[in-house]
This record gives sequence, C-alpha cells and structure tokens, in this order.
Amino acid sequence: VRRADQRAVRTSNLSLVARRIAETRAPSRAQLAKLTGLNKTTVSSLVAELIERGIVTESGLADTRGAGRPAQTLELDDSRIAALGLEINVDYVAVCVCDLRGAVRFRATVGHDNRRSSPAVAFELLANLAGDALAECDALGLTPIGAGISVPGTVEAETGMLIHAPNLGWNEVPVAQHLRDALGNPPFPIHVANDANLAALGELESGALRGVDDGLLLYGNIGIGGAVIVAGAIFRGSGGFAGEIGHVPVRPFDGERCRCGGRGCLETIAGQEAIARRVGIPGTRSVSGSPATIVAERARSGDADVLRALDEVAESLGVAIAGAVSLVDPRRVVLAGALGTLAPWLLAGARDAVSQRTRVAPTAVEIVSSELGDESAIRGGAALVLHEVLSDPTCAEARVQRSEQSAVKRAGLVVAPG
Ligand SMILES: [Zn+2]
Repeated sequence: VRRADQRAVRTSNLSLVARRIAETRAPSRAQLAKLTGLNKTTVSSLVAELIERGIVTESGLADTRGAGRPAQTLELDDSRIAALGLEINVDYVAVCVCDLRGAVRFRATVGHDNRRSSPAVAFELLANLAGDALAECDALGLTPIGAGISVPGTVEAETGMLIHAPNLGWNEVPVAQHLRDALGNPPFPIHVANDANLAALGELESGALRGVDDGLLLYGNIGIGGAVIVAGAIFRGSGGFAGEIGHVPVRPFDGERCRCGGRGCLETIAGQEAIARRVGIPGTRSVSGSPATIVAERARSGDADVLRALDEVAESLGVAIAGAVSLVDPRRVVLAGALGTLAPWLLAGARDAVSQRTRVAPTAVEIVSSELGDESAIRGGAALVLHEVLSDPTCAEARVQRSEQSAVKRAGLVVAPG
C-alpha cells in the first residue's frame, strides 16, 4: 500500500473515532472499538493521536459496576480549539465563539441598519466584534481555527462571495475577503453561507432539528429565509436557491408588492418589518430590542390588536408551510429568528392552517419553535468549522501552529521599539 493511501486511511479512521466520540456519551476505548468495528489496538493508537492533537480528552472513569478495571472515558476536548460564528443581517451584526463541543463561550450582538450604510461600515462593525471574540479566545486559552459567516442572501461557497442579498441591497460582495482584510489576514479559513442554511445547521447540531432527517426551517428577520433538510443534509437546489419560502406568494392577487418583483409574498406579511408596521412600531432594532421582542412583549401583556395581527401572520405562515409540507413531507418544521421569538403566538394558528390544507395526504409534521433562539445562525457558522475538524482531525494542528506563529509575530510587533 502506498504511503499516501495509508495516510488517507489513517485520517479517515481518526475522523470516524472523533465522530463516534462526538455522538456518544463519554465512550471508553473498548466501546469505541465496538462502535467503529476497528480493533482495540488501532483504536488506542488513534485515540492517542486525537488527544495529542487537542481534539479528544480523557474525561473520567466509566462505571463498570465492579466488572474489572474501570476504563477511562473519552470526550471531545473543549479546552484547546474554538470556532467563530459570525452574522451580518439586515439590522444587526453578531458573533459567537464555540468550543469543540459546540458550547457557546462568548457572544455579542450590535444593532445597526446595514441598508443605510455601505458594506464597508458593516464589515468594520463585524471586524470589531470578531476582534473581541479573538481576544476572548486568547483569554480562555482557545486557539481559533476558523470562522463561518452567515449572510441573508445567496452565496458562492467556494469563493465566499455574497451574490445577492435583496433585503440588504448588496450584490457581488466578497464577504470572506472583506473580513480577511479587516482582520489583518488571520491564519484560519473564513467560510460564508446563507443565513437560513446556517440556522438549520445550528438547529441540526444542537437544537430543534437534532436527529431529524427531513425537515424545514424558516429563518425570519426583516426577510424570511428557509432551509430544506433532505436525508439529514441541506438541500441546495440547482442554483443554491432552494428553501426561499419568504417569496412564496400567499396573497398573489391582492397582496403588497414585494422587493422580489412578486406580489403578496410571505415576507410581505410575516417579515419582521411587515409585522412591526401592522402593529405600529418601528421596523428596525432599537436600544429596547428587536421589533420581534417588542411585539412579543405586547402580545404577552394581552394587547388585542397585536394578538389579532399575529393570528393573521400565523395563518399566512400556515398557508406557505402547507405548500412546502405537501411538496417535501418534512418530519418537523422549525420557526427560527424573529419567527422563533414570536412562535408562542404563531404555532397554534400555523398548525391549524397546515392541517386544514393537508387532508389529502395527512401528515405527522410537527411545527415547533427554534431551540437556539437568536443564536441559531451564528452557532451554525461555528458548526461549519467544527465539522471540518471532525471530518479531518489533522487539519486543526496545522492551523493551531499557524495561529501560534502569528501570535508570536503580533507579540513581536508590540515589543518592537517604536
Ligand atoms: Zn417576494
């Protein structure tokens, strides 16, 4: 066997073991051998390498109930490497730092209407937040190994180019390159992806879509994005536009004109700005929070006008979801973002509207709220990076070394006589 092939087999086995450790609650080496079908000696050698690379750690002794010597249990190491999740949306930018177990170690959001300024201003805000996140990584002793940025539009993944974001009015913006420049060329990769797809990834990883093979997620903000999950993976469609449920017409003949050129799109009724307008509050984020949180407060206090408006929104949502349910037959539909914030007042109406329209093919679909609140897209951004590490555990080390070199360089610059 050629050496390159041996290396490839080794890397794929490292990945297999790392994934099983991620999925299983604190397995021992013997359990891993059973789970992977590899022999115990191989598993021990792979585990030793994963420990050395900072991917895995021994977490304690398994309870063997007196049957022989207690074995060490293994978990992903949450003390060495971290991923950044970033988001540029229409009226805010946000960041989080996740460790290898996906736990959020730092997060921050800044409200800013990105439609009213050039992309450069948004990237400056985002770079500031990313700088805070990197400083926090330093303080926590975590090495950042990558960043995933969520944007509200269509994206060319290979180049990190935002192709078209209708609600921002941005076209052909090289997002990855802008952030790379703003951060002074950091020694880790920067990925860019659509916000609804990343929100779905976040919920698949550790939220309302965990264990769901076929699902649908609606990511509501100023606009409404959507993600379709088929057989456990995000379905992109032929041009990467799949899931744009915000532009499914629910009032095609008498509805309002939409930015997309259509009429009565779901977004013109259930988008955050449309809801805000209907209940008479500002459509963009203020110091008192997002429009959705203000609407939620009023609904909680029993404001009859707000409750009536939300009933109408729920029905429109249900009409659009019913169409998608008939096409895709998902197991679960998740309302995320602003729609997640408002879910307590939308779920019942949306469920009714769906069940009225799916009697021909009765469905067991569950319509539920996001479990990650407004963190789903940034956590999905971090998950994108963490997935890479689990699929090639050898990639992290090279990045850690480059990070350390650049930290040395930075330190050198600081102490250099001026
Ligand atoms: Zn539209």
